[in-house]
Amino acid sequence: MPNFPNLIHFAIPFFVLSILLEVYLSTKGKEVKYTLKDALSSISMGLGNVFLGFISKGIVLFVFFLIYDNFRIFTIPISWWSFTLLLFLDDFSYYWFHRISHKCRLFWASHVVHHSSQHYNLSTALRQTWSGGFYTFIFWLWLPLLGFHPAMILLQMSISLIYQFWIHTEAIKKMPKWFESVFNTPSHHRVHHGSNPIYLDRNHAGIFIIWDKLFGTFQPELESEKVNYGLTENINTFNPIFIAFHEWVALFKDVFTSKTTLLNRIKYFLKPPGWKWDGTGKSSDQLREEWLNSKL
Ligand SMILES: [Zn+2]
Ligand SMILES: [Zn+2]
Repeated sequence: MPNFPNLIHFAIPFFVLSILLEVYLSTKGKEVKYTLKDALSSISMGLGNVFLGFISKGIVLFVFFLIYDNFRIFTIPISWWSFTLLLFLDDFSYYWFHRISHKCRLFWASHVVHHSSQHYNLSTALRQTWSGGFYTFIFWLWLPLLGFHPAMILLQMSISLIYQFWIHTEAIKKMPKWFESVFNTPSHHRVHHGSNPIYLDRNHAGIFIIWDKLFGTFQPELESEKVNYGLTENINTFNPIFIAFHEWVALFKDVFTSKTTLLNRIKYFLKPPGWKWDGTGKSSDQLREEWLNSKL
């Protein structure tokens, strides 16, 4: 078995240096904002994610190998062409993982962590889930089934995560036009972190923005609409444990304390965030519709 290192561990010094550089820019009055508590809580979420990754990555590898060893359809060699193909297939999986993470509360419960900061800087990139690593890999299961070696897939997943680090900044306004049209960029991803109705559940891209354009979820950043970072209902805490699990607690509270049918309780896992069985909640689609109607 080829032994690919976990690139994320090697990238940590680069993350630290870039954050220090961005903090320096913020002291020089550039359009970059940091607050200590927010950055520290993002960094703790990142560290927790890396430590829990030692366990979750083991589970992911175990399941990937189970499929690869017993059920793979082809045996895809490890070469430049298969890595090129995997770059796109992994990014396609990432798009759907991310889009569904915003539309299904079972996945939102872990992904919400990444959106819980009201700031947007390189430290926000490190604000990563503590629970997602244990089950969101199901969106990638078709790759070992096709015949991609598990180590290759894990390597590509880390490359994608590292790519997404630099786009968490306000220091870069726009990249060249050709780059903005193909790749995910700071401008596209600022939109993704916006709680403005027009920006909700848009730009789910990993590396390539093409998937959002193809599947109808692309929204360019508008000069007239400044991004309000964070959630539609912010959690106002810097406590890492609370950030990591608050939505799980809220989800199970809804499931177990709602006085409704079993089917409605199950729906809490599958329906979008904001959905309530009695119709009193509001999903992002409803919030956007209300906003659009108010503009008429
Ligand atoms: Zn997201
Ligand atoms: Zn992000």
